[in-house]
Amino acid sequence: MTDTLKSYMRRNVPRYTSYPTAPHFSKDVGAKDYAAWLRALPPKDPVSLYLHVPFCRELCWYCGCNMKLAKKDAPVAQYAQTLNREIAVLAAHLPEPMEISHLHWGGGTPTALVPDDLERAMDAVRANFYVTPDAELAIESDPRTLTDEMIARIGQLGFTRASFGVQEFNPKVQKAINRIQPPEMVRWAVDGLRGAGVAGINFDLIYGLPHQTVDTLLETIRLCVEMLPDRIALFGYAHVPWMAKKQRLIDEAALPGVEARLAQSQAAAAALVAAGYVAIGLDHFALPSDAMAKAAQAGTLRRNFQGYTTDRAETMLGVGSTSIGRTPSGYIQNLSETGAWARAVEAGELPVGKGVPFTKDDTLRGHVIERIMCAGEVDLDEAALRTGAARDWYRAHEGALAILQADGLITRRGARITVTQKGAPVVRVVAAVFDAYFVATTARHAVAV
Ligand code: SF4
Repeated sequence: MTDTLKSYMRRNVPRYTSYPTAPHFSKDVGAKDYAAWLRALPPKDPVSLYLHVPFCRELCWYCGCNMKLAKKDAPVAQYAQTLNREIAVLAAHLPEPMEISHLHWGGGTPTALVPDDLERAMDAVRANFYVTPDAELAIESDPRTLTDEMIARIGQLGFTRASFGVQEFNPKVQKAINRIQPPEMVRWAVDGLRGAGVAGINFDLIYGLPHQTVDTLLETIRLCVEMLPDRIALFGYAHVPWMAKKQRLIDEAALPGVEARLAQSQAAAAALVAAGYVAIGLDHFALPSDAMAKAAQAGTLRRNFQGYTTDRAETMLGVGSTSIGRTPSGYIQNLSETGAWARAVEAGELPVGKGVPFTKDDTLRGHVIERIMCAGEVDLDEAALRTGAARDWYRAHEGALAILQADGLITRRGARITVTQKGAPVVRVVAAVFDAYFVATTARHAVAV
């Protein structure tokens, strides 16, 4: 690896699951703004729904999520009740009952709810929205705490996809991150869900964990491939203990360095491709028959807060504390403190914590960044035409682009920029060129690989 590439890899850049990115959301945006954005939604366009459960039954030390450890059932049950109320409050602000094409339960651990509470929430969704017969209904789960009863209920409720954080199967690594789940446990969950009728299975893997090596990761992939998940996301562990306090429990001395991380990510990607998976974007892999592989090939892949997605709806409505939504007018995030969120909902208010309205410039740059992250290329003139921007809008970035080109990270053909194979691992650095808010810093984001 060249020193130049190494220096790009050390750069701290956002993951670009949104643009503007979450640190630029402002408390100046409130419930009144969101209500106006909701009223302005085109009523016939389908929307997506994201439901957030911030509770987990176990604590993983690598976790960067805003979650709460649920030792008792009562707060989780209370949360579920408020969630149902919020679904009704939200729906009351829409121009008319709207169609849902994608629904995603994330967290935390959504299966920390008891099965009856999950069912009541899905009933509330169906009472307030029209869920299309072919909608994708996805739920994140934790094999360590999943039960036979919950598996059966997920099947009965018509879920089409379930995802698991597998991360790494090596026992020493699992101990170092406090996530003990042997392969048999994951296999039990996968077989159970498939048996209950859930056709789509996603796995998340992580490289760059303490004590992890290329060999442990390749063995993990071998075991995963035997279970044949449709999609696998391969993330680099983002060690940001200044933001995620749980990560202070991780032994920093056991973390692999930049070169070892790159070797792990490249070996894992090659093994997944050799096993028949199609590489998608920065960090996803899918079986060729899967909708995500088809969307990538058709150029319709999108990026949202869950990462890469086949969801093409322009609006995602978020429900639950901390959840983030997107409308054509801007991003919105619910209050993250569960008590404050619940009080707002119980008062019949939209529980908005912060947000950011889109300027024309945000829409242009958001499109450019999304195309770079999803397709590895973008036509800057076409982007200008699409958003009504001046044709020379990117003139100020010519210097930065010339450096990336000279370093072999991109090629240029007129206004078309293509990320090269060398640049692919640091595609976020290329995207960051077009981020008008980005200030290079070592303290706010994870390293680029
Ligand atoms: S990694 Fe997932 S299960 Fe573990 S603490 Fe974080 S949100 Fe909960």
